Order: sequence, then C-alpha cells, then structure tokens
Amino acid sequence: MKAAVYYDIGDIRYEELEKPEIGFGEVLVKMKSCGLCGTDVHKVLHKTVKPPVVLGHEVAGEIVEVGKDVKKFNIGDRVFFAHHVPCFTCEYCRKGHYTLCSHFRETNIYPGGFSEYIRVPIDNVKHTMHKIPENMSFQETSMVEPLACCLYGVNKLNVRYGDSVLIMGAGQVGILFCQLMKFLGASKVIVSDISTYKLSKAKEAGSDEVIDVSQEDLIEGIKKITKGKGIDTAIIATSISSLLKDSVKCIARGGQILVFSPFDINSTVAINSKRFFNDEISIFGSYSSSPFDYDIAIKLISEKRIDVNKMITHKIKLNELQKAIDITTDTKQNSLKIIIEP
Ligand SMILES: [Zn+2]
Ligand SMILES: [Zn+2]
Repeated sequence: MKAAVYYDIGDIRYEELEKPEIGFGEVLVKMKSCGLCGTDVHKVLHKTVKPPVVLGHEVAGEIVEVGKDVKKFNIGDRVFFAHHVPCFTCEYCRKGHYTLCSHFRETNIYPGGFSEYIRVPIDNVKHTMHKIPENMSFQETSMVEPLACCLYGVNKLNVRYGDSVLIMGAGQVGILFCQLMKFLGASKVIVSDISTYKLSKAKEAGSDEVIDVSQEDLIEGIKKITKGKGIDTAIIATSISSLLKDSVKCIARGGQILVFSPFDINSTVAINSKRFFNDEISIFGSYSSSPFDYDIAIKLISEKRIDVNKMITHKIKLNELQKAIDITTDTKQNSLKIIIEP
C-alpha cells in the first residue's frame, strides 16, 4: 500500500509501506478522506516529531477487515475513529482531564491518516469508533475530530447568551469556533485575522464583525466595538504566542481566554498579571478532544447545525501531500480546509 511519509521540511515522500496486519479486537480501514490539520503543519514546520513518520489523524474510511471479537462493526461500514484514546482509570482521567492521560498520548492509529490503509487498535475501536450517518460524506466526517477538539475547548469556558466573543485567527479552527459561538447564543462574535480571504469566510460563517489586523489595531478595534468594556471571551485559534498578551488587553473584567492553538515550545510571553486579581480574568489551555466529544460532533455535522462543507477549499490526492502543505503555508493562496483523498 502507499502512504505519504514525512522526512523533513519540504520532503514528504509517497512511499510503498507494508499493509498493516490486524490483531484481536482491531479493525483495518481503507482511508477515504483525511483532513490536513494545523497541528500536522505545525509538526512539520517545527520538527516536533521524529521522522520518518506518517502524519494525519482526521480520518474517515470504510472497514475492510475486522479482527476477532469485534462485534459492533462489520466489513463495509463507513466509520469515524480517533487516533488517541484515554485509559479512563488514571488520576487525570478520574478528574476528567482525558487528554493529559499518558495512555492517551501513547496510543495511535497505524501508520497514520495519510495512508491507504490504517490499523485501528482495540481501545480506539472500543471507545472512539462510530458508524457515520448515511447523510454524512467522508469529507464531512474528516471534520469530526477538529470540531470535537473545539467542543472540548468550549466545555472549559462559560459562554452565556448575549456574550461577546473574539476569535483570533480565521483558519479552519477559528471558523468552527465562530459557528459554535453563534450556536451557543453569543450575541457578538468578532473574528480577527490578516487574511482578507479568511475574514470573508468568517463572515460567511456568521461572524458579526471582523477585524483585519493588517489594517487596524486589534485592541483599539475591540474597544470601539465593545464601547470600552472589552470582550467577554477570547479564543486564540492561531499559533502566535504574542496573541496571549493582546487577548489579556482585550478582555473585559471577569473575562476568559481559551488558548487553543499550539505555540512555539520556546515562547514566553509577558502579560499584565495584575488583571488576575483586580479583574478576575481566567486563562484556559486546551489540547485535543475526549471520546465524549465525537458523537456530539457527528450529530452537529449530520444535522447541519455546523456547516463544514463551505470550509473545504481543496481536495488533494495522497501522493501530493507536500503540495497541500505548500498551499496551506502560502498566505497568497486562499485556502481553509484541505482534504487529502487516496
Ligand atoms: Zn486535527
Ligand atoms: Zn488515563
């Protein structure tokens, strides 16, 4: 079988790998669609994974083999599954911090999403695999994992009807958050970015205001829109650590910040720390998603409450993964979600 293997920046090879064999309780899936995630691009650009490695985790596919004792699934089933799964029993899991569980971080599908065939381990089958509704396409299913990650982050926040929300970054995640915040009843959703194209996608997704930070000062813009009060909730949906400092300046008293995107491992940011005591602000971090978010994400997409189709701008073949990364990192090319197909 073929897979797209990452070796180095600018060096992804379409190679022949041995088709995985499955064991007890495992499932072999033929990949039909795999989303290119911001974290895949981050891993490539910041070299945070040891090559050679097959990336990709936003997978949808069709079951071609089932191992012994797999009862819930059959050959031919169209499925979603996640790459990580928690143990449900460790100290972190017992407190509901599923994504901090060491089992969660160690588990993975094999060899990765950017491959023709994928072995799904027993725990991932048991706790994360879902048959997808007939009305849901494979490419829509590739948006389940990113949406689930947003839901996991949103669950850390307290967003009330009528709140104002600033989403920093109008990429794929920013657009999902934009739709979720409108769905949750936020009265003013503001999206900031430097790309006119991405801001137009944010408007299409229902944002009330956009701020083009290449033209306008963000903090001044927020002051103007909120009449000096500041924003209730800020979500950092792009990997620029200095936005943390800006978000602290933008939020209202009692406001909250969600740091959703990964920052450079060496980055430190100075923030106005007196605001924690004086203004009772809160900052939350969020990483990945839990098994309890997938069925909700599937429901939101299949019931068309969250529109993911308008977000998909490119479909690219597996043998051109490098091209997909080049497109998404080139600010002159208008792209939002890129789907990789076999
Ligand atoms: Zn992802
Ligand atoms: Zn655990």
